[in-house]
Amino acid sequence: MNILAAVSRKIGAPMHLEECQLEEPRDDEVLVRLIATGICHTDMAMRDHKIYPIPHPAVFGHEGGGIVEGVGRSVTSVRPGDHVVLSFGFCGHCQACESHHPSYCEHFDDYNFHGTRGDGGTPLSQEGTPISFFQAQSSFATHTVCNERHVVQVPKTIPLDLLCPLGCAVQTGAGGVINSLGLKFGQSIAIFGTGSVGLCALMAAKMVGASEIIAIDRNPARLALAKELGATVIVNATDGPVVEAVRRAVPGGVDFTFETTASMTLLRQATEVLARRGTCGFVGGIPAGTEVTLDVEWMMTGGRSFRGIILGDSDPKSFLPKMAKAIENGSFPIDRIITRYPFERINDAIADSESGKSIKAVLQFPA
Ligand SMILES: [Zn+2]
Ligand SMILES: [Zn+2]
Repeated sequence: MNILAAVSRKIGAPMHLEECQLEEPRDDEVLVRLIATGICHTDMAMRDHKIYPIPHPAVFGHEGGGIVEGVGRSVTSVRPGDHVVLSFGFCGHCQACESHHPSYCEHFDDYNFHGTRGDGGTPLSQEGTPISFFQAQSSFATHTVCNERHVVQVPKTIPLDLLCPLGCAVQTGAGGVINSLGLKFGQSIAIFGTGSVGLCALMAAKMVGASEIIAIDRNPARLALAKELGATVIVNATDGPVVEAVRRAVPGGVDFTFETTASMTLLRQATEVLARRGTCGFVGGIPAGTEVTLDVEWMMTGGRSFRGIILGDSDPKSFLPKMAKAIENGSFPIDRIITRYPFERINDAIADSESGKSIKAVLQFPA
């Protein structure tokens, strides 16, 4: 079928809305009409080949939310008319997938970053020229096809422009705090970076009842919002040494740190403010080969841990419906970080994301 997609043709260049062709869903795939999609910094990093050289032309976007329009013959979990959010790709049969940790799928890169579905084919083309498919969905488009495994049904009572960030920012931030770190009522956390992932982590920490939530950034407006969303202490990194500020706020250190900025300087600091037996979790678009120096004696003698996290250890079909409920009942006020744009203003939305003017830009598609 013909669809309208935001095609990316060059590193750093604007995307253009162009007519493309989308294959019919295969037996195990779902055809989805997009209603909304979030924009994530990974979209721009991928456009610019900073993490992975996905061949151009490509259609990015990996926080899609929409309505099922058709299903392949073997699809049983959703049917036309259902509201869904689209998640990351995974194989479904490796050891990680079978133990419900699909974000550590052995074939993760094949399913998400190689420009194809995972089997070498892309459902997207233009006049016969293949177009790279991204993160099992390419949601910067009016329609997509997605394997049933990566499609999560959500209640129709919650607007899809609030739910679409479940596919990446919410899984990464809230999942990181709840699933990966296992933050419990009464524990403390310092969150480095108050972008969409950092603020999702913060809202999750507030939701589970953290005693101290320290938010660290350089942007005063973001820090003010962090305070409104539940930060007990805000630290502006431009005001002086961050480690001292956190230690002043929580003598003895914090139980957890969550580093979202991909800065190795901050990552090191995130280990230095840990309490004994504390854990530093880190996320973000960190290129292969990146190194950081740790004080190993400090980590060892205090029983401190250092933990990489992908997509919040989320098993999307079980975790995302719970987060949708939290959004619906107001305990996870994601609307506070969303700025909406019509699809045709995608380049403005990207510019505002890159400048920091928008925290979570969400594109809305024409009905
Ligand atoms: Zn993302
Ligand atoms: Zn797998």
